[in-house]
Amino acid sequence: MEQNFKINNLIRENIKALKPYSSARDEYKDAKGNMVFLDANENPFNNGVNRYPDPQQKCLKTQLSKIKNVSVEQILLGNGSDEVLDLIFRAFCEPKKDNIITLPPTYGMYGVLANINDVENIEIELEDDFQPNMDEISRAAHTHTKLLFLCSPNNPTGNSFAKGKIEKLLKMFRGLVVIDEAYIDFSEQESWSNRLEEFPNLIVTQTLSKAYGMAGIRLGICYASKEIISALSKIKPPYNVNELTQQKALERLSKPEEVVTEIQKILKQRDWISSQLNEIPFVETVFPSDANFVLAKVDNATKRYNQLIEKGIVVRNRTNQSGCEDCLRFTVGAQEECERLIESLKEIK
Ligand SMILES: *Cc1c(COP(=O)(O)O)cnc(C)c1O
Repeated sequence: MEQNFKINNLIRENIKALKPYSSARDEYKDAKGNMVFLDANENPFNNGVNRYPDPQQKCLKTQLSKIKNVSVEQILLGNGSDEVLDLIFRAFCEPKKDNIITLPPTYGMYGVLANINDVENIEIELEDDFQPNMDEISRAAHTHTKLLFLCSPNNPTGNSFAKGKIEKLLKMFRGLVVIDEAYIDFSEQESWSNRLEEFPNLIVTQTLSKAYGMAGIRLGICYASKEIISALSKIKPPYNVNELTQQKALERLSKPEEVVTEIQKILKQRDWISSQLNEIPFVETVFPSDANFVLAKVDNATKRYNQLIEKGIVVRNRTNQSGCEDCLRFTVGAQEECERLIESLKEIK
């Protein structure tokens, strides 16, 4: 499949023909010497953000490139992974004609983005062990199936998909496989961003919102082949990652030991919560987690959810998602927060 894979067959015709908007900073970007910039109608009085940000986010990509060992041309940044995912739909999926495959229970944004873009969402439920149903996926995929979304570790189930299954899907699926690695830094699994050279149809998305503790700045990351990144770059809004976000992200990425320490604390709390949940009489199953949350099946999710609200604790009730009936999802908080959660669960009757 790799031999005859041609990304041009997957890109929408209008995107191939598109002449992208050329911003002032795209047309002239060499900041050498004593240049006077009178090209972008900016206010000249310096306050730190009076200039437009770098549309290509070069500093930030260079730093990520070193940390993640992926070349700068294989990185696209967005206003959260949600923007990155939307760009993927808009570059590859023809409204009313193409479709995608998602594997519920999973992250709700894939389905919402499919609806927004008027693209059919073929849902193939995960098997009982929350692993992909390989036969059903291969049966459902056809020529208009452009994207297959694999969320691993998966939200809300918390598990990673088996490496062999992902590999098989990458080889078998003729469209693009999008692996959403929002929770990869909590997991022992290796990132698929290390396998881009092997799989020309692979897109990996990550985010600074979870392990890096920066949900507020909105920075999503996409790793893929140069060809895919160039198609996505062509349609992204010119200044989609703002100056403050670029600065904050650079600061954070320059202190990797802080991030590692926080992740270790979160993992310790996660294991503690999982063991404590097992002791609660109305908790029926605590699912293993590779992420910073724990999914548990209880006797009556809505009742328990409301009782926790009464105690001032907000968790996520996933009971309406198929495959997650009577399940609550607990985000792993700070130690005091986890203790308060467990105490409250013990008090509930
Ligand atoms: C939280 C989450 C994201 C993050 O989205 P951002 O827009 O980057 O904050 C992406 N995918 C999944 C599965 C998530 O749970």
